[in-house]
Amino acid sequence: MAPCSSTEKFELHVPPLEQLCEVLQNGLKENFADAQVSVVDCPDLTQDPFQFPVKGICGKPRITDVGGVPYLIPVARPDKVYNMNSVAKEVELPGAFILGAGATSSKAIGMNAELVPLVLTENEGQQVVNGSYYASINPADGKCLQEKYSDKYKDCDFGLLANLYACEGKPGKVIEVKAKRRIGQDSLVTSMRKTLEKRYSDKHLAMGGTFVIQKGEAKIHIMPREFPACPLHTNEDVDAWLKHFNVRAPLICQTVLVSRDPGLDLRVEHTHCFSHHGEGGHYYIDTTPDTVEYLGYFLPAEFIFRVDRPETTHRVGRE
Ligand code: ZN
Repeated sequence: MAPCSSTEKFELHVPPLEQLCEVLQNGLKENFADAQVSVVDCPDLTQDPFQFPVKGICGKPRITDVGGVPYLIPVARPDKVYNMNSVAKEVELPGAFILGAGATSSKAIGMNAELVPLVLTENEGQQVVNGSYYASINPADGKCLQEKYSDKYKDCDFGLLANLYACEGKPGKVIEVKAKRRIGQDSLVTSMRKTLEKRYSDKHLAMGGTFVIQKGEAKIHIMPREFPACPLHTNEDVDAWLKHFNVRAPLICQTVLVSRDPGLDLRVEHTHCFSHHGEGGHYYIDTTPDTVEYLGYFLPAEFIFRVDRPETTHRVGRE
């Protein structure tokens, strides 16, 4: 991993959880027929359907935006390789549990793919547990191929970009979001983000966590295994390069969202999902608003760390 002497740190606004619940519930009710937000004890995330390597998403929550889309387009930078253990140190939480959305290291996996990180990073007396998934396009049939990280990927490398939530992986109080029947145009994540942006208009908040699409289907994309043959310059170019799929519940989604960018050139929301039936990738929105049901657990982050921010940037391909 390249030296990250340039990592920027920004302190975020963290409202009381009870206040956040009220704000989110009111906001979500504009986008969902039924929305209930409350403070609960984090369920044991080592259990189904999560099967995470840790029990909870609590303890010193923070987020990081590593690399960025400018390292993928217009021209891919396969030399941009990062490591979850190093990232844990960059975010000042060695041994952190990390979840989120990113890209595989094409060097480690042998191809470009969507990465669903779920990693308990190394620390004194703590073994690495890499419970990540990655989703690629199956060359045999052009369909989605989701695979689980096996022991051979203990090195925990990833590539190009990632939006990550890091914490101590402890049990504790979290914000539970239940939402059913979408009546607005926004995804669950976008709806939460816009709600925070509107309510806390002079502040910067971020949240991370996991949610399950319990019923319905969702639109996702998966990047091809090979990097683009020609430079991609517009959102239309990017859309034509990506492969889009409709995948079915239950889907377990890892998300990071930021209410507003404090000038760090962030991707303000990014969500990757996995399933136990072989489908996974980059989540946009459910495609079954009348029947969709969401159940999620989130926490506000205390800090954001910007790691290896691209010098040359653009706004293409950040949806
Ligand atoms: Zn993605």
